Parts: sequence; structure tokens; C-alpha cells
Amino acid sequence: MSNHPPTLDERPPDVGELTPPDRTLMGPGPSDVHPRVLRAMSTPLVGHLDASFVQIMDEVQELLRYTFRTDNKWTIPVSGTGSASMEAAIGNLVEPGDTMLVPTNGYFGGRMRSMAERAGGDVVEVDAPWGEPLDPVEVERAFDEHQPDVFGFVHAETSTGVRQPDVPALTDIAHEHDAYVIADCVTSLGGVEMRVDEWDVDAAYSAPQKCLSCPPGASPLTLNDRAMDKVLSREEPARSWYLDLSLLEGYWGDDRAYHHTAPITNVYALREALRLVAEEGIEERWDRHRAVAGELKAGLRDLDLEMNAAEECWLPSLNAVRVPDGVDDGAVIDRLLEAYDLEVASGLGDLEGDIWRIGCMGRSASRKNVEYLLAALENALAEQGYEA
Ligand SMILES: *Cc1c(COP(=O)(O)O)cnc(C)c1O
Repeated sequence: MSNHPPTLDERPPDVGELTPPDRTLMGPGPSDVHPRVLRAMSTPLVGHLDASFVQIMDEVQELLRYTFRTDNKWTIPVSGTGSASMEAAIGNLVEPGDTMLVPTNGYFGGRMRSMAERAGGDVVEVDAPWGEPLDPVEVERAFDEHQPDVFGFVHAETSTGVRQPDVPALTDIAHEHDAYVIADCVTSLGGVEMRVDEWDVDAAYSAPQKCLSCPPGASPLTLNDRAMDKVLSREEPARSWYLDLSLLEGYWGDDRAYHHTAPITNVYALREALRLVAEEGIEERWDRHRAVAGELKAGLRDLDLEMNAAEECWLPSLNAVRVPDGVDDGAVIDRLLEAYDLEVASGLGDLEGDIWRIGCMGRSASRKNVEYLLAALENALAEQGYEA
């Protein structure tokens, strides 16, 4: 280590104008953002307690309820990315000494585990391989063995491209055992059928930058009265002050009292992104994701590429495709980015090197993007000597 004090440069840093590349975003998020959402973000600020902002808050909550298919009063955007709404759900519902059951079939079940442990919970697991959904029989077995208080599952596992089919089968098991259900809907909300009330999900969270095609920063969360009663009757306060829902209730509930400064611009953005959902219609939007991703799937089949997930648990918003023998997955990803300004992602964890992950989310779920991607991928594969 040098004893010299650091020298400060006299000149201001020479940083040029912001000119990021013009990417087509077909990875695991963020997705392409609609110009209307970007315009909403350049709208002048009002104060976070301004009467006009209170109305905007109400509108965002109403639009979130529509998108989640719920009447839950406790439906809010949490300040932060999807991990913030995730930690708000887990950190408030799991009390010290509670047992939480989490899945092992993907990356985000592992994150659930970390968050539940930090909340003081004991964690137990229900196993399934990466690339497969949870089997309700295994979930039932885990409930009988461990009697968990809280059960978390990932509706749309972004790391594996697997959609958990038959959500009511899981919520039924949990409720027969008097447990609370937390659903990770980060890669499904606004893109893949999710019905919070009808499917009896107690708490669900999401993120704006996936199927809602909104920049990250304010993340959807909803809890039913049953879940909120547990949160409001905790013996010990939640360990995070920032994400304590009993305090956030003061701001998003009837009082509208200061807790922290809402990310006003992100709330504007989310409002516009959700308005686009409402204009399209939520079911029409689910249909569009299925139709466009279906075209992607057909095009991949024409290239003799194989989907990783079984058809019954195919996730239209995140398509996991097997890397064929003899092809370097990273070289294809780099080529798509460099030559085509096109972002797709590699596999993670147990599937690293085995799959590509192609997102088809929100505004990126368009026929134009899919045809562009298929053409670019065909060329990038040909450069690797791959022939369909
Ligand atoms: C992206 C994602 C998250 C985390 O969201 P961030 O916005 O990255 O914090 C959580 N769960 C799933 C399934 C995701 O895809």
C-alpha cells in the first residue's frame, strides 16, 4: 500500500453525452419499453404528498388490481426492483420461528430461501429438477412432513423457462394446511394468465421490467386481507424498516402519511405501462404472448432447435431453448448482441451452457421482434457451422 495521499484531478471528468446502443431486448428482462412510458417519465414531478399525486396513486392501485385480477385492498407498487417486492412479501409474512417451504427447481427459489432465512424463518424445501415444475404430490408430501406456515412458489421461473401449471392445485394444498401462499409472478404478470383471487393466492409480487415493459423501479405487490392480518398482528416488527408493510400502509392506505419519498417518475411510468395493459385487455395480452411466442417456438423448431420445458409447462414470456451439440452458446449470444443489437441470455445454475433464454415479454412480444430474432439466430448459428 502506498503512503501517498490520493491526488485529486483538477479537471472535471470528461464524460460524453448518454448514447446507449439501440438494443432489441429479448432476454430475461428488461424488455422493450413503449415510447408512451418513456414520455410519461419526462413528465414534471409533483410532490409525493401532493393531492394530484394521491390521485395518481389511487389510479395505479386500481390498474394493478385489474392486472393481478384481484380486489385486494393491499395492492401497491413497492419502491425498488422485483427483489424489493419479493422481500416485502417474504420479510413481512415470515415471522421469526415460522417455517417457509420453498422450491428448488430454479434460481429464484434459492433467493426465496435467503430472504426467508434473513427474516428469521426456518426453511424447508420441495424438490424438483431445474427445468421442471413442482409436482403437487411432492408439495403435499412436504406439507405433511414439515407443516410449513408459509409456502412460496415461482409461477414463471425465469431461470428455466418453466410455468407452474395448475396453481389452484398448490394453493388448495397450502390452505388445507392453514398456510399462506406467496407467488412469484415477476415474469408472468401482464404476460401469462395469473388470477390472484380466483386461484386463491394470498400474496403475489412482480416487477415492472418484464411483461409490463416498464423500466425497473416500482414493483407490484398484492396481499389479501388474510395475509395482511398476519402482517399487522406480528409480535416483532419486520426486520426491514424500508419494506415494513405496516408502515407502508400509512402511505398507501387511507392516511397518505409520509414514510419515504415515492419514486415519483417510476410511478408515472408504471401508471402508463398499466394503462397500456388495460387498453389492450389483460386476457388479450395473455393471448398475444401465447400467439407471438408460439410463432417463436415454431420458428425454432424449423431450425431443429428443441425447447427445454415440456409443452404443458411452456412459459411464453421466457423461452428456454437447448443449445445444440457443437455450438458455443456464449459465442452466439455475443454475435447477436454485436451484429444485431439483440439481447438474449444464457442458462443459469444447473442449466448453464445448456440453454439460451429468449424473452418474449410485453412490448418485446411482437411478431417483428420474433422474425428479427429468428433470422439473426439462423445466421449466427450458420457462422458456427450449424445447419438445420
Ligand atoms: C427478475 C426476477 C426477480 C427479481 O427481480 P429484480 O427486478 O431483478 O430485482 C425475481 N423473480 C423472478 C422470477 C424474476 O424473473
